[in-house]
Amino acid sequence: MMIEYAEYAVSVDSFSKRKYQEESHPYRSDFQRDRDRIVHSKAFRRLEYKTQVFVNHLGDNFRTRLTHSIEVSQLARTVARSLKLNEDLTETIALAHDLGHPPFGHAGERSLHRLMKPHGGFDHNEQTLRVVEVLEKRYPDFDGLNLTEATLMGLQKHKRIKGLNHTLEASIVDICDEIAYNNHDLDDGIESGILNLSKLNEIEIWNDVWAEAKKSHINAGEKSLIRQTIRMLINKMVTDLIENMLDNIQKYKIKKLEDVLNFKSDTEKLCSFTYDTSIKISRLKKHLHKNLYRHPEVEKMNSRAEEVIQRIFNFLVKSPHAMPGEYQERLDSDGLYRVVADFIAGMTDRYALHWNKQILGID
Ligand code: MG
Repeated sequence: MMIEYAEYAVSVDSFSKRKYQEESHPYRSDFQRDRDRIVHSKAFRRLEYKTQVFVNHLGDNFRTRLTHSIEVSQLARTVARSLKLNEDLTETIALAHDLGHPPFGHAGERSLHRLMKPHGGFDHNEQTLRVVEVLEKRYPDFDGLNLTEATLMGLQKHKRIKGLNHTLEASIVDICDEIAYNNHDLDDGIESGILNLSKLNEIEIWNDVWAEAKKSHINAGEKSLIRQTIRMLINKMVTDLIENMLDNIQKYKIKKLEDVLNFKSDTEKLCSFTYDTSIKISRLKKHLHKNLYRHPEVEKMNSRAEEVIQRIFNFLVKSPHAMPGEYQERLDSDGLYRVVADFIAGMTDRYALHWNKQILGID
């Protein structure tokens, strides 16, 4: 089936080069193959046991990095399809965007970065690239997944390549990442009892949608109204994004992919919410920072997680031979500290806790 893309989309033959040339597949596009390689990778399977905000073993109903990545992917695909962008590429970037995250959410990253500071630092976006370019070993002909240029470009979140903008496919993943975590953190935050409903009603965007949900569901109980509010919030944000992007594409006469890559404006991004919505969302984010991410309960878990990472790091730096063979093999080429960071970053929360127990020698 031929899919019709807009001319500003990444087409199947733009940026589809791979580092190691491969024959094309009779039934799958290059970007579908990228997606399939990601889904079959070890790093992808491990996302199931990595934390977003809540430590994985607290309960089975909270998000993990795997469910987060799937949520981002489905939101981004809706946006991509509505704008006639390349949905396969969008899905691929979304499913891969968190592959480099260490265990224990942001606490894990903070801790690894601090320990790695004298040795080049640690950043989960760069680690994602390392995973797909070096660390995954599935194919006899090359290390990594040998993904297309467009996918790799989409994963370089904070870098511009040759001074060009990101493709719209990559930019929508970025912004849908935000939509997903703002809403699921609200959901998990309320579910865990950490976020308080009456305080949330001081936030305009929440309060507006809550009132709307209540009006249309007079007999619904509180729990049901919370779920309905979050559902409507996601819809509101995604709709605002699609409509604003369509406006921008018209306003700035974006016709071709080159127009996207070379677009310059000091005030506007092609991929953005309307001004009004973005102000409201930033207030919601501030609320989440103050009341959820910095909540004493969450901070307590975070500092425990940082201790665990530090303990494993110090142990492995002294005893690198405790690592699996595939890591030891790279000690000479990549250096002790980077290899230790790679090994720790690949750990799931529960595997890191297992190592912690081993090192302490207690059960
Ligand atoms: Mg993410």
